[in-house]
Amino acid sequence: MKKFLNNKLFRYLSIFIFFNSTTIPLKSSSALAAWELKTNGVLELRTKSNANLKAYFQKSNQIYGDRFWVDFPGELKNPRKINGNGPIKEIRLGKPNNGQTRLVIEFKKETYLNPLTWRMVALDENRWSIKLFKSKYSFKKIGEGEVEKRIRNTRAYQNPSYKRKRVYNYLELPNIKQNKYLVVIDPGHGGLDPGAVGIGGIRETDVVLEVSKIVKSLLSEKGVKVRLTRKNEVDLDLPPRVSFANKIDADIFVSIHANASRGKRKDINGLETFYYRGWRGKLLAKRIQKQILRVSPGSPDRGVKQGRFYVIKNTRMPAVLVEIGFLTGRLDARRLEKTAHRKRIAFAISKGILEYLSKLR
Ligand SMILES: [Zn+2]
Repeated sequence: MKKFLNNKLFRYLSIFIFFNSTTIPLKSSSALAAWELKTNGVLELRTKSNANLKAYFQKSNQIYGDRFWVDFPGELKNPRKINGNGPIKEIRLGKPNNGQTRLVIEFKKETYLNPLTWRMVALDENRWSIKLFKSKYSFKKIGEGEVEKRIRNTRAYQNPSYKRKRVYNYLELPNIKQNKYLVVIDPGHGGLDPGAVGIGGIRETDVVLEVSKIVKSLLSEKGVKVRLTRKNEVDLDLPPRVSFANKIDADIFVSIHANASRGKRKDINGLETFYYRGWRGKLLAKRIQKQILRVSPGSPDRGVKQGRFYVIKNTRMPAVLVEIGFLTGRLDARRLEKTAHRKRIAFAISKGILEYLSKLR
């Protein structure tokens, strides 16, 4: 590993570090907010303000091609790989150590690079830019999130293909005030009570537990404190779920369930969200319902309804119960079987929650 001690790249970063002694404590969520590698070879980053970054370059070896990476304070929750194109082999987001985030750009072996000319420039207190390769390479841009805050209603936003491509990207979840909100997520059923059992024996308890855990990780990444009423397969009665949320004075309560139709009819599919009372609960239900429908095309909208379920009736904060599909329905069950769809649903629930919280004062 060769750190940029003697060239411009490191000087730019070191000046920045010298003037900004603010560091983000370990275990905070990642300082990386958005990144984009543009067609002209420029990598742009948006981070938390005054984050301390470190940039590195390493020549190719037997295992890897040439690599450039940036380390950010704050922990990445979902390590992932993104396929490259043109001169880029792959982009990886990882967690090299606890409390850290690493963005790695790996080049294809044949790509010509001149890292000694590279410089990472601070465009603003939270924006960075570095040109990594020449425009002569044909490259389709890759990124996650918005590197610059754009005004809504630009043409890009009206283009539905743009939306479709980006809708599942967790970095596009709305930003809200960090460490301000406490959310209780309640995975329905558990243990001896499997809840609904659908096509092929798919069990509600398993589906909603996985979805709930992903919601927790997505929201935590956004600086929301999240508590789950259960973390594993335990049979938890309804009153303790409610008293837990009331005791810790959560801001909102979201119970996650999946449906079964009477007679296990395969033609019945759809999503619905319940609230018990109050405009806040209704608003939260609406936001969540809208988002889960977006990731479940073809599945009917059964609407936002008032319901008298114990957990939403007895919790003291705005509370909703969301039914993420019918495990007995052909369409919904086939989807809910797959982790990929559970992730989409979890993304959607998280987005609904964040949209709701971002409107609160
Ligand atoms: Zn249920």
